[in-house]
Amino acid sequence: MKKVAIITGASRGIGRECAKILARNGITVIASYNKSEKQARSLKEELKKENIEIDIFKADVTNKYEIKQMVEYVLQKYGKIDVLVNNAGISQIKLFTDITDDDWENMIKTNLSSVFYMTREVLPNMIHNKNGCIINISSVWGITGASCEVHYSAAKAGVIGMTKALAKEVGPSNIRVNTIAPGVIDTDMNKDLTKEELQELEEEIPVKRIGKPEDIANCVKWIVNDAYITGQTIQIDRRMDIKIIFYIQKRRHFVNVSF
Ligand code: NAP
Repeated sequence: MKKVAIITGASRGIGRECAKILARNGITVIASYNKSEKQARSLKEELKKENIEIDIFKADVTNKYEIKQMVEYVLQKYGKIDVLVNNAGISQIKLFTDITDDDWENMIKTNLSSVFYMTREVLPNMIHNKNGCIINISSVWGITGASCEVHYSAAKAGVIGMTKALAKEVGPSNIRVNTIAPGVIDTDMNKDLTKEELQELEEEIPVKRIGKPEDIANCVKWIVNDAYITGQTIQIDRRMDIKIIFYIQKRRHFVNVSF
C-alpha cells in the first residue's frame, strides 16, 4: 500500500521539491500551500505530465482550524498519514531592538506553533497505525544562532527541541521524528542576497556552492525510506565558519554602528 505524505509549504522552494521527489518515488502526496495557489497548481500540473497525481490543499499553518480541515480531508480520502514534513516557514532579518510584538508572534506562530498544530492533528492516526515519520525543517540558525535573526533562530531552535522530545515520547509507537537543518538554500527566502553576497557565502561552504532545494528533498526521501533513525538533527550543509553572513547582516543593519 502506498505511503501517504503531507508536506506543508509545498507551493515553492524546498517544500515543492520535497513534494516532487516523494511523489516520483511512489508516495501519495498532499502538498499544502497558503498564498501561492498559482504555484501549487503548477506543481500539480508538472507532475500530471509525468502521470503522477498529487493533491494540493490550501491551509494556513498558523491557523489550527485550517490544519484540522486539511488533516480530516486527507484521512477521509486516504485513511492514513505515514509521513508529515513540517516545512512551511518564513524568515526576517531585523535588529533585535527593532523586532515588534507582531514580528515576534508571527515568527513563532509560523515557524514553531505550526509544527505543534500539524503534529498534534496527525499523531493520533500515526499512533493508531503504530507507524509514522515526521520531518521538521529547522535551520542551521536554530543550532548556531544568527545575528539579526534572533526571532527566527529562537523558533528554529524550538523546532529542534520539540523534535528531540517528541522522538522519545513516540518512539515506542514506531513513529520517528527528525529535523533537517538547512544552511543557505537557493529559494525565494534568499532572493534579497546580492550576487556578491552569494559568492562570499559560497566561499565558506565546504563544497563551494549554495544548496539547492533538491539537496534537502533528497535527505527527506532518505529519512522517509529509513526505518530506524530518530531524534536527529541533520545539517545540510553546515558552513565551516559562519562569519560571512554575520558580516553581510552587519553591513546591512549596523552601517552606522561601530564595534
Ligand atoms: P520559500 O521558498 O520562501 O517557501 C516558503 C513556503 O512556506 C511556501 O510554500 C509558503 O507557501 C509556505 N508558507 C509560509 N507561510 C505559510 C503559512 N502561514 N501557511 C502555510 N504555508 C506557508 O522558503 P524555503 O527556502 O523553501 O523554506 C522552506 C523551509 O526551509 C522554511 O521552514 C525555512 O525556514 C527553512 N530553511 C530555509 C533555508 C533557505 O536558505 N532557503 C535555510 C534554512 C531553513 P505560500 O507561498 O503558498 O504562502
